[in-house]
Amino acid sequence: MGALSAVKGIGPKSEFLLNKLNLYTIDDLVTHYPFRYDKLVRGDLSKTEDGEHIVIDGRIESVPVLLRFKGGLNKMNFRLVTDSGIVGVSIFNRAFLKTQLLVGTGITVIGKLDKGKNIITASDIKFGLLSNQMKIEPVYHCTNGLSNKNMSSYINMALMSHGKEILDDIPSYLIDKYHFTNKKIALNILHNPPSEEKLKEASIRLKYEELFSFMFKINYLKKKNRSMNTGWSKDIDRSKIEELMAKLPFTLTEDQKKATWEILDDLNKPHQMNRLLQGDVGSGKTVVSFIAMYAAYLGGYQSALMAPTEILATQHYHNLKNLFKDSSVSISLLTGSISKKEKQEIYQGLLDGSIHMVVGTHALIQEEVEYQNLGLVITDEQHRFGVNQRANLRNKGREPDILYMSATPIPRTYALTIYGDMDISTIKERPKGRQPITTMVKTTKEMKETLTMMLEELKQGHQIYVIAPLIEDSDNSDLTNVYELRDKMNLAFGSRYRIDLIHGKMKAEAKDLVMQEFLKNEVHILISTTVVEVGVDVPNATMMVIFDANRFGLSTLHQLRGRVGRGSAASKCILIGDHDTKRLSIMETVDDGFLISEEDFKLRGHGDLFGTKQSGDMTFKIADVRQDYKILLQAKTDSEEYLLNADYDRDPLKQRLIDSVNCEK
Ligand code: ADP
Ligand code: MG
Repeated sequence: MGALSAVKGIGPKSEFLLNKLNLYTIDDLVTHYPFRYDKLVRGDLSKTEDGEHIVIDGRIESVPVLLRFKGGLNKMNFRLVTDSGIVGVSIFNRAFLKTQLLVGTGITVIGKLDKGKNIITASDIKFGLLSNQMKIEPVYHCTNGLSNKNMSSYINMALMSHGKEILDDIPSYLIDKYHFTNKKIALNILHNPPSEEKLKEASIRLKYEELFSFMFKINYLKKKNRSMNTGWSKDIDRSKIEELMAKLPFTLTEDQKKATWEILDDLNKPHQMNRLLQGDVGSGKTVVSFIAMYAAYLGGYQSALMAPTEILATQHYHNLKNLFKDSSVSISLLTGSISKKEKQEIYQGLLDGSIHMVVGTHALIQEEVEYQNLGLVITDEQHRFGVNQRANLRNKGREPDILYMSATPIPRTYALTIYGDMDISTIKERPKGRQPITTMVKTTKEMKETLTMMLEELKQGHQIYVIAPLIEDSDNSDLTNVYELRDKMNLAFGSRYRIDLIHGKMKAEAKDLVMQEFLKNEVHILISTTVVEVGVDVPNATMMVIFDANRFGLSTLHQLRGRVGRGSAASKCILIGDHDTKRLSIMETVDDGFLISEEDFKLRGHGDLFGTKQSGDMTFKIADVRQDYKILLQAKTDSEEYLLNADYDRDPLKQRLIDSVNCEK
């Protein structure tokens, strides 16, 4: 399917905004799934508690009064007559609606009720009364200048004009078997749900498709690997490895040693390694991977370490450089943001073999990159890479050994599915001398306490991470964003401490600069989205405050919290959350990532359709491997059958799926 500009109604300006959300093609757009649905059921003023969310319809009784504030902000007040009484409505920054909000107009208001003042502070106003039937409204991730309504209409325009080009990624015999609709209809329902029941059916259909093609690709890779079960035996001098281990500033834990030797054994064997190294956050996986890279070097091979973010890649690069500073190992950093000239030099070095180790982001798997003798590929925080990316990396060398590292411990059953026939090494034990992290759930009403605790840490010369779920203000969300938090933190601490922020949309150099300043203790409070979730290591940071904590999955929270407790001082993690604290309270008592992952699964296993899709898992757009585990198992069985049964070999879909694994993306 084509580019966004092919859709009638999407001009350059909207295209630019959609690009900001990482939507580039029509396919991206129509699969930009709502992250939540709002059920619009008429509320009752007398039955709604103070501070509660309410949806209510009625007719405007008074001419809206518009108040304008500094900075272009504004507020409108008017009265609304509803079935359950008259109520005041306040809405911010919708001055442009004033001409349409005429007395007598029927509207639906969504907001929070202040019982004392009898006012609804509206987050949204929709024209028209609610019908007696329930309405289901998709809620999308949007951006400044692009509202939920815009998003919905762009998606629908794309579905209308290009719907015929949408292909099913499920073979027709399976579509028949499960009585599925075609993909176009399912997408239509997802973006315009007529009922909960239909929505559920359509979403199962789309989840199945996503998991089916994922498992097909995994199975295909497995089969391909088995059929060419060759690899290179690397001759490794064990005494040199032991020398390196002795040179480390700490003693490796038993689990680290065991994992290291398992990996080195694989490197020694003449077949391709395909191993997952899993270990809780902070368990010390990185150093194990560095030793493996050294082993590859000793055996005469190049190695590549791929990380999901530039921050992490840069950090690994510096640590690796530091470890091998007195040796002849040559190490390079390859990310999207380095200059063209430098890139060319690195490409040359990788091709002629003068670079032994390379650390980088996705840039490592770009087509231009060729290696002289790539023998080992390591991907850190593996769950963030899709199958295609995994496959590309694997294709880079001639059957290089592969090591995947993940700090998201997944229950064994899931590992068996998603990681297929990988071997697994596990680090359970934590390095000695780790200080415990005290985790506390606090509500927004207890902000004073939180600020006091923060001040205490700052006074001791320690640093703090503050996490928010959003980057910028979004029209249809009252979640905290980083800019808003920076203002708040500046108000509280700005006179004495330096506060800065970092997020995924910043330029790499800017991010790097902030990170370096934080590392050097020149920035004391770092406000961030989940970009710090993976890997970053700043031992002097002893406190983390996570806003809207209930927005995140428990595993994500655990990952985030793993950023503190890395130095010699005791650490704290404050989870700010108003509702759902039962779930969050698990975090207060459990600090084992494996247990948390199980708990998370149990809780989310019963999650319903209307829950927020967990952030942090980028592998799937709609499916959730835990919540949709049954669908996953079915898709796994079906995709195996489809792959192995030669009757289907001439099916164009089969070829398309295979091509998509093999092609460079
Ligand atoms: P993760 O497994 O989450 O990737 P890292 O590899 O980043 O964890 O390790 C976390 C921190 O622990 C790093 O600062 C690292 O230097 C340190 N570390 C690793 N192994 C040990 C050990 N055996 N003893 C003490 N500190 C260690
Ligand atoms: Mg790590």
